[in-house]
Amino acid sequence: MRFQEIVGHNKLKNRLINSVLNNRISHAQLFLGADGSEKLALAIAYAQYISCINKQVYPENSEIIGDSCGSCPSCVKYQKLAHPDLHFIFPVANTKTVTNKPTSNQFLNEWREALINSNYYLSLNEWYQEINIENKQGKIGTDDANQIVKTLALKSYEGEYKVMIIWMIEKLYHSAAPKLLKILEEPPPKTLFILITEDTNDILKTILSRTQLVKVPPLENEEIREYLYHNFQFNNDKVETIVNLAEGNFKNATKYLLDNFDDHPYFSTFREMMLLAYNHDFGKIKSKSDQLSKIGRENIKQLLQYGLRIVRLCLYHDLGNTEMVKSNGNELAFIQKFSRFVNRTNAEDITNLLNEANFHISRNVNPKIVIMDMLLKISQIFGKKIIVI
Ligand SMILES: [Zn+2]
Repeated sequence: MRFQEIVGHNKLKNRLINSVLNNRISHAQLFLGADGSEKLALAIAYAQYISCINKQVYPENSEIIGDSCGSCPSCVKYQKLAHPDLHFIFPVANTKTVTNKPTSNQFLNEWREALINSNYYLSLNEWYQEINIENKQGKIGTDDANQIVKTLALKSYEGEYKVMIIWMIEKLYHSAAPKLLKILEEPPPKTLFILITEDTNDILKTILSRTQLVKVPPLENEEIREYLYHNFQFNNDKVETIVNLAEGNFKNATKYLLDNFDDHPYFSTFREMMLLAYNHDFGKIKSKSDQLSKIGRENIKQLLQYGLRIVRLCLYHDLGNTEMVKSNGNELAFIQKFSRFVNRTNAEDITNLLNEANFHISRNVNPKIVIMDMLLKISQIFGKKIIVI
């Protein structure tokens, strides 16, 4: 992965490139970014640049001031994620084929394939599906912590940096923490740890204090817009729809491209749910909940996330912050109408219900009951007649 293959983030890329050119690579860094962000891609591009034997340096006024060459022996191995000095640790669990003491190394082939296939946008749930661990939670255990120590004790293959990428460090099992903390404290020379996380609240404080935080923010709308104009023959409306729906998340943007949609994939479903709740149509709420319970937990979570967006935009519209209502087409028309019913009097309550449903879906509660319960409660909120029509 070269820096130039990653959308946006020029400032951050240049900071990372500069740290290499100035020989000031901090030995333990924590890349923080939401699901669908470029955190893992940037970590790998950074490591590839460090290891490249033909580093490119571009003029100061270029968008990015350097990049790996993409063709030296080191880069070629990096492109296949098979460089002997590049190591990965990630959450795993027992599966049908690995039934005892699962470690990252046992899943390395699946890992490389999943990363490359997802264009480095792999999510935790996609990974769990990939290795088929069903409803178990993956973790980074003591066997992997021992493996880290063992790997880093060996001499590097190319005589340069050894890079240890630990993906989703929040899944570190408590019994594995002391070993990792010790080596973070006293790493062998020329070692680079890149820890990757989606939420620093779930990480041990002692790990946070031993790492330098590298925030990977959502993309700017302009960065996504520019990419779309450069790579596709879309008209303005289509570009704006994708930019609005992506909300800074390129993974979402590409998903909408592939789906070749006019509206958000969940637009009509969410609109229907709200109308059923508004009309107190309990029979249809029941059958709709039954139907939705079969689309899978990940899809239900995406539907609820989309619902949160609609509620938020209705609130902005109701408060007169129309410049913050980043929407267009059918969705915008719906928001303009529906903000009479979802507004400052109830947006918080509805948001809480959507979040609560999301939480229960993540915790494996029966999806049919979760959705029905949520819709009935939203129905009650609409029924309170605090609605200003
Ligand atoms: Zn190279």
